Amino acid sequence: MAEEQKIPYKIYLTEDEMPKAWYNLRADMKVKPAPLLNPGTGQPLTAEELTPIFCEELVKQELDNDTPFIEIPQEIRDFYKMFRPSPLVRAYCLEEKLQTPAKIYYKFEGNNTSGSHKLNSAIAQAYYAKKQGLKGVTTETGAGQWGTALSMACAYLGLDCKVYMVKVSYEQKPFRREVMRTYGASVVPSPSETTEVGRKILAEFPGTTGSLGCAISEAVEVATKNPGYRYVLGSVLNQVLLHQSVIGLETKIALDKYGIKPDIIIGCAGGGSNLGGLIAPFMGQKLRGEADYRIIAVEPASCPSFTRGTFAYDFCDTGMICPLAKMYTLGSSFIPSANHAGGLRFHGMSSTLSQLYHDGYMEATSVEQTDVFEAAEFFARTEGILPAPESSHAIRAAINEANKCKETGEEKTIVFGLTGTGYFDLVAYQKYNDGEMSDYIPTDEEIAASVAKLPKVNA
Ligand SMILES: *Cc1c(COP(=O)(O)O)cnc(C)c1O
Repeated sequence: MAEEQKIPYKIYLTEDEMPKAWYNLRADMKVKPAPLLNPGTGQPLTAEELTPIFCEELVKQELDNDTPFIEIPQEIRDFYKMFRPSPLVRAYCLEEKLQTPAKIYYKFEGNNTSGSHKLNSAIAQAYYAKKQGLKGVTTETGAGQWGTALSMACAYLGLDCKVYMVKVSYEQKPFRREVMRTYGASVVPSPSETTEVGRKILAEFPGTTGSLGCAISEAVEVATKNPGYRYVLGSVLNQVLLHQSVIGLETKIALDKYGIKPDIIIGCAGGGSNLGGLIAPFMGQKLRGEADYRIIAVEPASCPSFTRGTFAYDFCDTGMICPLAKMYTLGSSFIPSANHAGGLRFHGMSSTLSQLYHDGYMEATSVEQTDVFEAAEFFARTEGILPAPESSHAIRAAINEANKCKETGEEKTIVFGLTGTGYFDLVAYQKYNDGEMSDYIPTDEEIAASVAKLPKVNA
């Protein structure tokens, strides 16, 4: 038998092999994701209505369901070269420790100061804002990775950056805040007194520790009230999935170099951007009938949008000022339990992924946070990387699949997205190490209560 080609621990691409265009998965979808609706009229939002909120080029990308490849501008490709290509790692040590016949690979996106994949879209969004001649951008951040990535991109391009940071994270992660400030961003804990919607939320829920939905409302208000500013979002939107396709394209090029075809592709799902990006070229093949893969979204049991949410139009924010998106949602008033430490706290899910899930092209599973941290610890001790809690959802599911292979003796190839590092999540790790972490699973009544408040739309 011919000797099997030895797969290196890390498969890198040369600069020439790096993708020159993003891949727009929507072009290959027979059923397109439902359009964003104007909450006032219930009609699909036009480019004219979106341009006061988002940069012009990004509005085009958001609404483009047909162009399969969109060129990555040279300036963005040059910036990507500072931290890309990211390695595709063969998890030999993990396989050995698990004693599994499965072959496990992970695409590691944590090799940049922001510590996550978010920089892939942050630089793109900041680039288009700069190109439009804007002064700056506003955004929200939860755990802080997106705010950090955006402040890095804005610093590079000389744009002002205003970040509304969910209050509980602002207090729990003071060092994240300092990183953002070092890159020149201003960081405000949300909800705040600086916006109308923030004051309204504070009056209604005094002492609230905030949510991503609140912070989005504040950031949108500031962008629309200040000339020369636009709002940017780090997940959920079609444009973000488009930019994140660089993850999947690199993964596919790396696997193809060695003739490897994955059986299972796994990613954690908050708003769906890393997962949408990782799976993009593979899902494209699946949609075109060229190949088949099992694709698994992994979400926290405490915020289970896919597995227990409703597929309906909903607001992306708590203040109900944003467009309506059709997605799997727990309701925009759903706030995950305060004891949930693992990120992925958004109440909804990308409409592209929601449609694909609805049409049966992918699966979803939910995992409890103590199991997630157990997987994180195991991974840190075997592969050496301290993973972000978000990423550890994917690790948990990958280990579960690898253990199934051990039982059946199947040599499946598993690829998962390792979206980032956990250096700023040490309060959560501390809880886990001290044995103080518990699981909270919302009751059916809790979910029903927030779903009952979904906006009524005839769509
Ligand atoms: C933001 C984030 C996620 C979740 O966001 P998606 O849009 O679902 O990808 C996952 N992992 C890390 C490290 C993050 O920063």
